Amino acid sequence: MRLVSYRSPAGPRVAGVRDDGLVDLHQTDQRFPCCMKALLQRGEPLLALADEILQRGKAFPADSVELLPPVPNPEKVLCVGANYADHAAESGMAPPEEPILFSKFPSALSVDGAPIVLPRNSQEVDYEAELVVVIGKPGRHIPRDQALEHVAAYACGNDVSARDWQLRKPGGQWLLGKTFDTFAPFGPALVTADEIPDPGNLEIQLRLNGQTMQQSSTRHFIFPVDVLIAYVSDVCTLLPGDLIFTGTPPGVGFARKPPIFLKPGDTVEVDIEKIGVLRNPVVAEEPTGS
Ligand code: ZN
Repeated sequence: MRLVSYRSPAGPRVAGVRDDGLVDLHQTDQRFPCCMKALLQRGEPLLALADEILQRGKAFPADSVELLPPVPNPEKVLCVGANYADHAAESGMAPPEEPILFSKFPSALSVDGAPIVLPRNSQEVDYEAELVVVIGKPGRHIPRDQALEHVAAYACGNDVSARDWQLRKPGGQWLLGKTFDTFAPFGPALVTADEIPDPGNLEIQLRLNGQTMQQSSTRHFIFPVDVLIAYVSDVCTLLPGDLIFTGTPPGVGFARKPPIFLKPGDTVEVDIEKIGVLRNPVVAEEPTGS
């Protein structure tokens, strides 16, 4: 099943994706939770109900509503650095011996079709195609062999990165360069985990203005999804709706000679097998801001 969030007069709501449009699942059946986090937490039995509700609900056109990030309000947006050996090499790094974790603020989240806004104070904004893991069942100290039971869904993500801020600003941390507003588009919908039994064997591609820039497979992960979940949950409790951006394959713009950075008018597409295409236009920040 494919799920999105949209803005309704009553607040953020979950909708199922059907060929003829979106179906508000809570409006169709009040037994169904209206918000994505509650849905993700309740797992398989609720998904079976969702399927039945989706079939009998009344569809409306997707473009008649404002889509929100599929999980509009996650507590954590975790990201993994250098998780493909060949991307680590192009970035001048040795393959890490343990996962490298950083984060983005939820305010960076964005949705399919929404513009990536190039900040006035960066000249080096880059793309990164990534598989995004969406946590369902909460847990701490999750064993590796049970880790995938804690995944509710997957999505495409773009770990947009201001390289000048990430690599050269004082402090040596990555957070600010990774967390400008609009720097974490994900979608186009959440695809429930029952449709993706093996997240470690998915073709992943990024196209910039139709030209393929990244082309790989998640089978080249240094740390697969179950290892990442076990590792992170030894530090902090994973909660329903938490997101893990799992790292990007080679082909990013800053490692190219000459480098390629995003510019106004560009279109970036992240395409992952079994999930779909996340498409975002690129615009310049308005001169005045707010
Ligand atoms: Zn990344």
